[in-house]
Amino acid sequence: MSVPIASQPASTASTHTTGYSLCLGIALFIAQLLWPVDTLAADKLRLQLRWLHQFQFAGYYMALEKGFYRQAGLDVEILPGGPQAARSIEAVLAGEVDFAIANSGLVIARLQGEPVVALAAIMQSSPVVWIVRADSDIYAPQDLAGKRVMLLAPPESAELRITLLREGIDLSQLRISPASFDPQDLIDGRTDAYNGYTSNEPYWLKQQQIAYRLINPREYGVNFYNDVLATREALLEERPEQVEAFVNASLAGWQYALDNTEESIRLIRQRYAPDKPLEHLRFEAQALRKLIMPELVQLGHMNPGRWQTIADSYVELGMAEASSDLEGFLYQGLAQPDHRLLYQVIAGTALALLLTAIVALRFAHLTRRLRQEMGRRLQAEQELRDSNLQLERVASTDRLTGLWTRLKLEEVAHNEIKRAERYQLPLSLLFFDIDHFKVVNDQHGHDAGDRVLSALAQRVQAQLRESDCLCRWGGEEFVILMPHTDLEHAAVMAEKLRILVSAEAAAPDIGVTASFGVAQWQPGQSLRELVKSADQVLYLAKQRGRNRIECFVPSAPRPQT
Ligand code: GH3
Ligand code: MG
Ligand code: MG
Repeated sequence: MSVPIASQPASTASTHTTGYSLCLGIALFIAQLLWPVDTLAADKLRLQLRWLHQFQFAGYYMALEKGFYRQAGLDVEILPGGPQAARSIEAVLAGEVDFAIANSGLVIARLQGEPVVALAAIMQSSPVVWIVRADSDIYAPQDLAGKRVMLLAPPESAELRITLLREGIDLSQLRISPASFDPQDLIDGRTDAYNGYTSNEPYWLKQQQIAYRLINPREYGVNFYNDVLATREALLEERPEQVEAFVNASLAGWQYALDNTEESIRLIRQRYAPDKPLEHLRFEAQALRKLIMPELVQLGHMNPGRWQTIADSYVELGMAEASSDLEGFLYQGLAQPDHRLLYQVIAGTALALLLTAIVALRFAHLTRRLRQEMGRRLQAEQELRDSNLQLERVASTDRLTGLWTRLKLEEVAHNEIKRAERYQLPLSLLFFDIDHFKVVNDQHGHDAGDRVLSALAQRVQAQLRESDCLCRWGGEEFVILMPHTDLEHAAVMAEKLRILVSAEAAAPDIGVTASFGVAQWQPGQSLRELVKSADQVLYLAKQRGRNRIECFVPSAPRPQT
């Protein structure tokens, strides 16, 4: 996708000579003869929002209000959504609207064969979370078992569903009710976990001085895009220039909204959301900025690998079938050089030869601007490369322990399994889980629990070889991938770690033990199957009394200690 070019302010110079205006008039007249009149000025384009007017859609309002759409030759109408609005993607497919803002569930439609196209992802991370009261005993997804939990109907809140699935929690363990959209339900204790947005409900809770905590899928390795600008393939085929112009003008609108937040907030309140307090819009803007990450990522950026992971998650949840090829799902920008544009430039150049010296001066000025723009583009590309690297680092590192995340381990394991397959090398995996960790939290507090996790991670890491890959799998569970290691040696290592964990206090006065499951990779096995084997014997270790290791033997599990 091309980098959005900041729009030029309309010329207001009052010093133009009559001669200059005349030349410009003639030029415009000739240009109109040369240019096809219907290039962009066509029917109204309709953009369907996915919720009521609020800062969440600031970029589109600003593109409209600041004339970016108009300057691109587009006539745009913005339609608010809301709890009653029909699903925006269906409206796009039915041709009722031309563009829509969707969540990452958009990819489900694509997997089901619907011709939807993702044009730009505005939020690099999803704001969907559970909000719980700080005085509750809910700290992690596991603690939701038996609790009253709000959950939007699929595909909304898929982030929360996949987090439960990954953490091994069955929906039937929860007392689920539909989202009420009323944070008062949490305040008055009618629900234990409220399905909301980081950018919205926390504002109301702060207003009422209710302390709260977030259960955020991102902390469990689930990182979905949100607020994805989408269209249908047919529109892209029929009017590619319009789509390109719409995307660029919208992103320019977003750039404007992020650079001029206070102005945008006031305008949104005045024109679109008169009932929203300015303070609420400011809170929302601040929260969304953290998800849009304009300092880190190019606005609207989409990574094919990340979309594939999101698609795989929906398949894992049973919301879609077979996630094979997303070919055509991601908008690539105008692929072919635009010959019409080339002819226009040639005609324009010929025209320029006929114009007076004033026009020549203006042309020189534009050339200078173009050069500056090219310089800016090169710089933007470099910044994009840097920010992608930084983003990858953030996604690979667990914030609490500094260990690699599950996402990173999956990437490393992919290569190690290939290597083991090719050179017939042994490869083993240790899965360990702290025993009775809930009790540690209950007795010493959640902060002390955090310190235990972090200290234990450092101690285990210090015992490993450089080639071993230790990651925090989630909560108080850890995985170690050990290349060039067979089951016997992996078991020796597991026993060493078990003794290490139980021998020293993990934090002042807090001793813990851990149970270990060890499995050796079998030819043809996927990472998921290998982890499942280790998890299976870890479960056995728990059942047989904890603080012990168990090894997975392909035919039948047998105790090791
Ligand atoms: P078991 O021996 O069967 O593994 O018992 P357990 O109590 O360790 O296991 P359970 O799965 O019931 O509970 C895990 C606990 O870990 C519950 C949750 O509050 C806590 N936990 C998960 N992530 C964190 C975290 O980041 N920090 C802290 N302090 N606690 C966490
Ligand atoms: Mg445990
Ligand atoms: Mg556990």
